Amino acid sequence: MNRKDILLQNHLPTLMVPQFESLPELQKNRSRLLIADDGLWIEAKTAWGVLIKRIFESPRPLPYGSVEEKTALLSGAIPIRFLERFVAQANESGQEGLETAAWIIWSADEGWQYLELDLLVQNVGSVMFRWPELAPETSLVLDMHSHGRGPAFFSETDNRSDQGTAHFSLVIGNCAKGRALAELDTAIRLCLSGFFFEDSENISLWKSSGKEMTCGIISDP
Ligand SMILES: [Zn+2]
Repeated sequence: MNRKDILLQNHLPTLMVPQFESLPELQKNRSRLLIADDGLWIEAKTAWGVLIKRIFESPRPLPYGSVEEKTALLSGAIPIRFLERFVAQANESGQEGLETAAWIIWSADEGWQYLELDLLVQNVGSVMFRWPELAPETSLVLDMHSHGRGPAFFSETDNRSDQGTAHFSLVIGNCAKGRALAELDTAIRLCLSGFFFEDSENISLWKSSGKEMTCGIISDP
């Protein structure tokens, strides 16, 4: 095989899921496609989580093993105070009709941190920032931006900016000074190698009580 194909395939390999033995362990900070009995899946393993989602369903059973959906935050859920801080920031910018952005990052040593971004462009229809250089053991977990007074949705620009490493992406809309989270418009999705998952049953801000981290990425204090 030529070297360009080897490079491409090594970046995002596809594995046939075995039926009669367990799936080989995925290395940290890697992603792979899995062809399973019911279709094509993507799996990502980061320092903060293990994520397995189906991309598309096969019209007939395939001769491979099965895979189960997973959204497990090994880091634990994000503390709500970080979300509240961004709501205040989004409301303040929204009051002037402007968009804004911030990141929530995590490392095993430092835990959760709120990262203020160096905003290069900030206006009514867009926000652009200098891409932060993170320390090797620190990962982006939640990329947040606001749409000012407009509704929350993922635009074509958002789709381009949400490529790359595994992370969650949150948009807040309908912002104005003093508005509580419940009064704001929100949209959240999981981004895995340019595939986006918005299913509200499995990916939402809040987790249902008592269950393993399968639903919701923010925890109460
Ligand atoms: Zn947007």
